[in-house]
Amino acid sequence: MLLTNAELVGGRTVDLRIDGEQIAAIKSTLDPHADERVIDAEKRLLLPGAIDAHVHFREPGDPHKETWETGSRSAAAGGVTTVIDMPNTTPPTTTGEAFDAKADAARAACIEYGINGGVSGDWEPDSLFERPICALGEVFLADSTGDMGVAPDDFEAAVERAADEEVTITVHAEDETLFDDDARNADASGVGHAANADLWSTYRTAAAEAVAIEYATEVGQETGADIHIAHTSTPEGIDTAVDGDATCEVCPHHLYLSRDDLDELGTYGRMNPPLRGEDRRQAVFERVADGTVDIVATDHAPHTREEKETGLWDAPSGVPGVETMLPLLLNSARQGELSYERVVDLVARNPADIFDLDSKGQIEPGYDADLVLVDPDNPQAIHDDDIHSKSGWTPFEGRRGVFPELTLVRGQVVYERTPSERHGRGEDDEQFGDVDGQNVRA
Ligand SMILES: [Zn+2]
Repeated sequence: MLLTNAELVGGRTVDLRIDGEQIAAIKSTLDPHADERVIDAEKRLLLPGAIDAHVHFREPGDPHKETWETGSRSAAAGGVTTVIDMPNTTPPTTTGEAFDAKADAARAACIEYGINGGVSGDWEPDSLFERPICALGEVFLADSTGDMGVAPDDFEAAVERAADEEVTITVHAEDETLFDDDARNADASGVGHAANADLWSTYRTAAAEAVAIEYATEVGQETGADIHIAHTSTPEGIDTAVDGDATCEVCPHHLYLSRDDLDELGTYGRMNPPLRGEDRRQAVFERVADGTVDIVATDHAPHTREEKETGLWDAPSGVPGVETMLPLLLNSARQGELSYERVVDLVARNPADIFDLDSKGQIEPGYDADLVLVDPDNPQAIHDDDIHSKSGWTPFEGRRGVFPELTLVRGQVVYERTPSERHGRGEDDEQFGDVDGQNVRA
C-alpha cells in the first residue's frame, strides 16, 4: 500500500509505503508499484496509532458491558490501535489459567492488545510469568471495581517480582484509610443523572491519592522496579510520582471534566479516582501540556446505562473512553492548548517506551504500520449514539473531537470513514475491516 501526500506532525508532506505489516519507506515522492493500492491522503495529518495503556474490556465475565469485539471496534474508530487490558475481569487475570481464558476471548479483537497479569492475595505469579503477559497491574491499593484491593505485604512482594522479571507494574494508588467516611454515610439523593455525585469526590479525597503514590514510589525505589502510576487525578499526585521516579498517566475525564460537571453527569461521572475541582483540573492539564505527565490513557471502564441508573452508592465506578481520547486531544491541539508533538508523545511514543512495545508508537521505516489519518479542520460533536462501545454512552456528550478517517493496524484497514456533507459523525459512511489483532507479546 502507498499513502501519498500525507502530512506528518512537524509539517513535512510525504509518501509512505507499507510492505506487508511494516512501514517500508518514507520519502517526499514514491512511485506506485504495479497492483499497489494507493490512498491519497490529500494533505491530511498522519499519526502513529494510539496506544491506550489502560482499558477494561470486561471479557471474560461481563460481556453485557463490553466484549473484545465491541471494545476493539470502539478503539479503532477512535484511532487506538493497541490496548493494554487490566486484570479485574471475572475470573481475575491472576493465574495462568485465567490468562488463557482471557487470551481466548481477546482473539476477537480487531486491534493489537497486551494482557496484564493481576496481583491479589492469592495470585499465581509463576504460572502468569510462563504466559506472554504485557505488564503487572493495575494493582489496586484501594478497592475499586472487582474487589482486588491488596495488602501492603502482597504489594511489596509483587513489586519485587516485577523488578526481577523486568516488567513495568501499574498501580491504582488511593489510600482508603484517608477516605472521608462522613461523606460516605451521607444521604445521596437521586438516581442516574439526578444523583448527588459530588459526594463521591468528597469521599475519595485528593490526599488519599498523593499519600498512596508516595508509598508506591518508595517501594519502587527500594526494589528498582519500574512503577507506573495509573490515572493520576491531582497535581499533588503527579508531582509525587515524578519526585518518586515513577512514570504517570492522566485520563481524559480528569483532563476535560471536573466536579462542576457532576450536576449534569450524576452517577455517569462516578469513577475512581473521582473528578476533582476545576482548579485541580486546570493544574493537571498544564502538567500534561508541558510534558510532566508521561502518558494519557483512558481507564475505559464501560457499564450499561441500566447499571448507572441507580443511586450514587450503588452505581458502578467507571466511564467509557477509548473512542474519544485521541479525538479530544487532537481538538485541544487544533485549538492550540497543547502541541501535536505532545499528543503523539502522550498516546504513542511514551506508552510504547514504558511498556516495551518496540515496534510501535512511531512513524519510521521498520515500525508496524499502525497508522491514523485525520483532518484537523473537521472536528465533530461527540454523541452517545455514535459511540461503538457496547455501553453506548459517553461522559463527553456534546464536546468536540477530531475523529479518524482511516485507521490501519499492521498495514490493514481496520476502520474507514467517509465524511458526509452534513454535520455529524453519525451520518458518515463507516466500515470496519476484518483484521485479526495480535497479542503484542506473543
Ligand atoms: Zn484504577
